[in-house]
Amino acid sequence: MVTKDILNQEILNESDILQLLKTEGNDRSMLFEHSAAVKERFVQNLVYLRGLIEISNYCSKDCFYCGIRKSNHKVLRYNLSDEEIISAAKLAHDKKYGSIVIQSGELSNRKNTDRIRFLLEKIREMSGGRLRVTLSCGEQTYQTYKDWREAGADRYLLRIETSNPKLYIKLHPQNKKHAFDIRIDCLERLRDTGYQLGTGVMIGLPFQTLEDMAADLVWMNQFNIDMVGMGPYLEHKDTPLYQFRNELLSKDQRFDLSLKMIAILRIMMKNINIAASTAMQSIDKMGREKAIKVGANVFMPNITPGIYRDNYRLYDDKPCTDENAEDCGQCVEVRMALTGHQIAWDSWGDSAHYQSNI
Ligand code: SAH
Repeated sequence: MVTKDILNQEILNESDILQLLKTEGNDRSMLFEHSAAVKERFVQNLVYLRGLIEISNYCSKDCFYCGIRKSNHKVLRYNLSDEEIISAAKLAHDKKYGSIVIQSGELSNRKNTDRIRFLLEKIREMSGGRLRVTLSCGEQTYQTYKDWREAGADRYLLRIETSNPKLYIKLHPQNKKHAFDIRIDCLERLRDTGYQLGTGVMIGLPFQTLEDMAADLVWMNQFNIDMVGMGPYLEHKDTPLYQFRNELLSKDQRFDLSLKMIAILRIMMKNINIAASTAMQSIDKMGREKAIKVGANVFMPNITPGIYRDNYRLYDDKPCTDENAEDCGQCVEVRMALTGHQIAWDSWGDSAHYQSNI
């Protein structure tokens, strides 16, 4: 089928997606023009901001791709103080970002659970409930997700990383702490608890095929998620997957596929929120702007206090690790204007998909 006919279909199946992932030249431009038009029609040319606070890089997991995995003893571990976190949240509130993301390594102990609940309550108090909070703190029990939701978290991000269970096994140690089925259970628990549900995948992982990527998009559509953050896999020298670095697609190819995945997902799931990931910017200085142009509508300025930022290094060459939060805020407006988009200041930017489902 020619690209134009694929794009005009109501539903895209795996082989349509595969063909779109392979487009080049005029067909590729046609894909991006179509996704940009869908975006404008369903979610307008607006960009929602989330101030990203990486509160701690302590992690109890050992994912083979991740730079802050437990066994990487070269990482300088940090934990922001409660005051630092609340003042970063206040900065986002004062700057009218409307929303923040609290992200950390995965810890599942009582102390951490209580601490996050306390922080959520403090942030709600500080902002009078006017700041939306997304959590990205990994796999937790049903009760913990419930407690955090009651304390003020509205959205949760937990990437499936890959929807192919066989590939998932290759990226993680084989034990209960890293089981694919439990990750799926967690996503279901999150949905049941009433969160706006976010997930995502890495693109260009070792052993990953284009068919896997097409299946990821079908899976996200079937899972009916509200938000997505996905981007290129980037190698980190102190991780087990680094040994496969010579088998990877080039960074440019991973970047190109990430743009196409965003564009295709926008066409499939018209009113969800899609983030322009930081990993895209680390390959291309204009990476996040390009992602916004073809379908993403969420931008996450890093507001982690600058002195810690360099240590939340999931992959090599992570951008914006040496600036301070103020600089990031200032560059956002200019960056978005370049893409012909407006920033929705002082807006929660809830997923329209979630709203239409409740
Ligand atoms: N502990 C939280 C947050 C993890 S970091 C959780 O488990 O959800 C957030 C995301 O960074 C991960 O879900 C993963 O998709 C991404 N990430 C980790 N290592 C990466 C790498 N080497 N390249 C690209 N993305 C990576």
